[in-house]
Amino acid sequence: MQDQDEGLKANKEILKNGSYQDYCIENDLLYKGELKQLVIPKTLEKEIIKRTHGIGHFSCKKMKQIISNSYYINQWDKKLQDFMKTCIPCLLAKRKSGKQKGFLHPIEKKSMPLHTLHIDHIGPLMEAKKQYNYILTMVDAFTKFTWIFPTKSTTNKETLDKLKIFQQHFGNPDRIITDKGTAFTVNDFREFCETEGIQHISITTGVPRGNGQVERVHRKIISVLTKLCSEDPSFWYKHVNRLQRALNSTYHRTIDTTSFTLTIGTKLRQKEDLEIIQILQSEEVEQYNRNREDLRVKAKHHILKVQEENRRNLNKHRKEGCKYEIGDFVAIKRTQFGVGLKLRPK
Ligand SMILES: [Zn+2]
Repeated sequence: MQDQDEGLKANKEILKNGSYQDYCIENDLLYKGELKQLVIPKTLEKEIIKRTHGIGHFSCKKMKQIISNSYYINQWDKKLQDFMKTCIPCLLAKRKSGKQKGFLHPIEKKSMPLHTLHIDHIGPLMEAKKQYNYILTMVDAFTKFTWIFPTKSTTNKETLDKLKIFQQHFGNPDRIITDKGTAFTVNDFREFCETEGIQHISITTGVPRGNGQVERVHRKIISVLTKLCSEDPSFWYKHVNRLQRALNSTYHRTIDTTSFTLTIGTKLRQKEDLEIIQILQSEEVEQYNRNREDLRVKAKHHILKVQEENRRNLNKHRKEGCKYEIGDFVAIKRTQFGVGLKLRPK
C-alpha cells in the first residue's frame, strides 16, 4: 500500500540514493523516527484509527499513545478529531461538557383573548367510525377557550383545514404555539402562518416548559371522552360537540369565570349538560388536589420573577445554539424518561 501512495513512493525513491529527514527503509517498508514507526499510507489511515479506537473507545490522547507505539500518521490531530465525531457509541454516551446550547426564552403571556393559540394533537385514539383517529385541539392561552376537532390524521393538510375553520369564525391569532410535530414543521404550515401574519413558535417535544395549561385541558378531554363512551369507545367523536360546549361554559378557577364569558362577554346559552359537567367537576377536583392551593397562590405571585431568574441563570450556562445543516450528524438527548429508559444511554 505504501508503494501505491504517491507521496510515500517518492519518499522511498529518494531514500534509495541517500537520506531524507528521519525516514528509513527496512525490508522495503518505510519507517520514521527513533521509534521506527511504520509510515501509514493515506488509504489505511482511517482503518488504523478505527481499529485503535474500537479497542476501548479511547480519547484522542490515549489513541495517540497507542498508535505512536507502532505507526506514524501524518498530521493526525485533525484526522483523529474528525473520526471521534463519527463514533456513535461515544456520541451517545458522552456527557456534553461546557455550556449547553441554546438560550431559554420564556414565552411572554398576553392577557388578551384570541392572541395566542396552542395547537396540538391527541392520539392516536381508538379508531372511531368514520376513521377518526386523532383530536386536534386549539386552546386559547388566555381564556382557555378550547376547540376540539376529530381528525383522521395528523397531516399538515387536515390541520390547515381545521385552522381555516377557526379563521372563518375568529380570524387569525397573533401567534400559534405548537410542538415540532410534522404537521407544523412542513413548509405549507410555515407559509400559511407567514402569509396570514401569524407568529409561529414551536416548542421542543419533551420539554414541558410553557405547555402545562394545554396538557391540563388534554387531560380533561381524555377523561371525559373515556367516561362518556365506556360502552362503545369507537363512538367517541360523537361526544366532541357536547364536550367542547361544556368545557367552554364551565367555571375555570384560573380565570375565575368561564372561557366563553371571558372571550365573548356573554353567557353561553344552552341546555345544561349535567353528565359532562359532573365529569368535568370531578376531574377539576382531582387536578385541584394535585396542586395544593397554597402552592398555586405562591406560584402565581412568583411565576414571573422565577421565570426571569431562570432565564438569567440558564443563559449564564448556555451559549449560542449551533446552526445545523441538512445532512449533519446529530444526537438527541433523551428528555422523556419512560419505564425502563433510565439505564439507556443519555
Ligand atoms: Zn467511540
